[in-house]
Amino acid sequence: MKKALYALLGLALLGPALRAAPYSHLEDLRPNGKRLFLVNRLLDSRTISYCVEMPEEETDFLDRTQARAMIEVALREWTHGIALRIAAAGRADEFKDILPVLDAPLRLVAQPQCNKAVLPLWKDFYASAPSAPAVDLMFVFSTPYCSGTGAHATSYYAINGQEPFICSLRRYESPVRTPSEQDYFPPMAKVENQAELQRQGAALFAQAKAGKYDGALQKKVWAVNYIFSYDDATYFSIAVHEIGHAFGLADEYLEERTGEYKSLQPGEGIMRRAYQEIGCDEIDGMITLIDRARGTQRKFKSFCPNRGLICGGKEVPPPAAPLQNALQKELSHLIK
Ligand SMILES: [Zn+2]
Repeated sequence: MKKALYALLGLALLGPALRAAPYSHLEDLRPNGKRLFLVNRLLDSRTISYCVEMPEEETDFLDRTQARAMIEVALREWTHGIALRIAAAGRADEFKDILPVLDAPLRLVAQPQCNKAVLPLWKDFYASAPSAPAVDLMFVFSTPYCSGTGAHATSYYAINGQEPFICSLRRYESPVRTPSEQDYFPPMAKVENQAELQRQGAALFAQAKAGKYDGALQKKVWAVNYIFSYDDATYFSIAVHEIGHAFGLADEYLEERTGEYKSLQPGEGIMRRAYQEIGCDEIDGMITLIDRARGTQRKFKSFCPNRGLICGGKEVPPPAAPLQNALQKELSHLIK
């Protein structure tokens, strides 16, 4: 059964970080997913519907309310959060055509039920697979089902038909919960006011979920997430990473990447390692996703330091220095 399920899934997997590679587009790997990627929702209805399926609910560590808060903040981080980062880099004017796409109000609709009829072999795990209206984004939190793929990934995004889904084992920390007396968080030098922040997760996520937020709140949300991820990625990190796939970004740790829409150098960000934050590669990635979906050709300097230009979604190697050029010219004679 494990093998059968694995064979059914066209998986884009999150496993441990394997090798470095920067942003690229999932559409180049999964052309059949083009219409389904959430970047299209930003350009049409500005509504994203989602559902949460949690067959073994344990309210102490992750319940539906917490899951919804993290999913909605993750969706806002990929849109409003990227707009904040572009503005913080002082490049709002350069991207004045992109910012409204990222920043305009987004309507997030939580559907009470997931359409389990589309989940491969769900009936074999849970006896029945009732149908429900389709959504843009389906989340399954279930260790038996999600580990039943035999895919050796603790969470993944799967495109196997008309309704992609995200699967996650029940093994992460929830930064949205209030810590108990038994919780121990190692002191983290990078975080100011740690003791206060680690108690505020639920309140901060609720504020961010409500919609518009600023750079200060964004920093606090990520600081709370960082505190809770001292041992492993959190459910929030996992939601952000997998929703990056749902928007249309590929893993950054894959060495073999096909297609034109990609950068050249290794990146550092949440599409490479799930315990990191949204980084410069993800900013480049979202801009190029939107441009690709709109058919816009743009030339811009990468948001990552020491990178070159990105033209039409593809990073252009920086021109070689004069001395390198001279050396290459010499070597071209020698190698003949
Ligand atoms: Zn991934």
